[in-house]
Amino acid sequence: MKKLILSAIALTIAVGVSAQGQRPQQQPDPNRMRPGMTEFYTPVPKVVTPGDITTNSAPSDAIVLFDGKDLSAWSGRGGGPAEWDVHDGVFTVNKKKGDIQTRQHFNSFQLHIEWCVPENITGESQARGNSGVFLQGMYEIQILDCYNNKTYTNGQTGSIYKQSTPLANAMRKPGEWNVYDIIYNAPVFNADGSYRVPPTVTVIHNGVLLQNNVIIRGTTEYIGHPQVKKHGAGPIILQSHGDPSEPISFRNIWIREL
Ligand code: MG
Repeated sequence: MKKLILSAIALTIAVGVSAQGQRPQQQPDPNRMRPGMTEFYTPVPKVVTPGDITTNSAPSDAIVLFDGKDLSAWSGRGGGPAEWDVHDGVFTVNKKKGDIQTRQHFNSFQLHIEWCVPENITGESQARGNSGVFLQGMYEIQILDCYNNKTYTNGQTGSIYKQSTPLANAMRKPGEWNVYDIIYNAPVFNADGSYRVPPTVTVIHNGVLLQNNVIIRGTTEYIGHPQVKKHGAGPIILQSHGDPSEPISFRNIWIREL
């Protein structure tokens, strides 16, 4: 009986497929279509006023995370005030104070962030202007001075740290400003904590594509393999790296939630 039912189901599916095969589309004959039949008028994309190209301001719907004045959008890792040094419209890492993170938490987003390695930078490999942008507090996009500075390629500027080597090295020399535009899609988790949809990221550095919608395989560990840890919305974390080189600076940071 069970066999009979299964055969009946199989037959039904086969007929369905076959019927689909005989009638491949319900759409009108393209030769009889008019232009308006493939044009949509709703939903209408919202109006976003772009930033001013001369002053490098944020788009109208962006959340400004640093506008040159203060770090009120940021805190220390423990929740207290962010104690990095604000001066001359920028802020500089204070290595004694540890990482800072946005007070607001985010899911998927478009992030714009500018950073500058000081002209007098010293050190080599990973100990030369090391910082990083952690997406949802979990996944590091490396910041490092890779202008004439060799290191392991999956740890160079714009890498998904120890996971994905960037497609190019687009570093400006120390003393000049670098721009990251990062488009990040947050993961979706299964009940058991594994990824149902893994996180993905696109990284553009100074207008050059470094990561092209790359799958992030888990946390970006210094030692060991990526780990998948279930999480929700998270902050942007900026890394205070322990290397002894001169600290880097940031300016003009904004984010658009997607
Ligand atoms: Mg780093």
